[in-house]
Amino acid sequence: MIFTLTELEHHPIHFDVTYAPGEIAFSSELRQKGGLHAAGKAELLRNTLGEVRIQGRLTVNLESACDRCLEPAAIPLDTPFDLFYRPVIKTANHAEVHLEEGEIDLSFYEGDSVALREALREHVLLSLPMQLVCREDCKGLCPDCGANLNLSPCQCASRRADPRWSALKDLK
Ligand SMILES: [Zn+2]
Ligand SMILES: [Zn+2]
Repeated sequence: MIFTLTELEHHPIHFDVTYAPGEIAFSSELRQKGGLHAAGKAELLRNTLGEVRIQGRLTVNLESACDRCLEPAAIPLDTPFDLFYRPVIKTANHAEVHLEEGEIDLSFYEGDSVALREALREHVLLSLPMQLVCREDCKGLCPDCGANLNLSPCQCASRRADPRWSALKDLK
């Protein structure tokens, strides 16, 4: 779905769309399970130089490798969004000028339209949790033998045991 300035000049555009897996290109490590649903509206903000605001809510189930054990980790997202798009301002030498780039949820568009798909892709990537884990108490992989410690403990820990502790154990 593309929002053109010509149409937005006349009225806000409401949308209610579902993107099948593969329609939005996430990174190869991020898999989309089922449809990505997004509903909301896009509008051209008055008294700006073509600033477009896209707000709504998106829900999607993603899957990625657990940061600790590398097994699949489910990432359910159900998040509101409120995104602002400003036209890219080209200077005489065609260098792109990005004003206030540090501002949150502010992006830039080129030409005379904003693509919803790209806006949603950016929002999903910004909404991912800092740490992706298959479960809160994931034990991860043993740094020595690589065994998945969720499945079974390995022997490395006992071999690594501090001799002072085993000395204490002997006292008991
Ligand atoms: Zn894990
Ligand atoms: Zn081990």
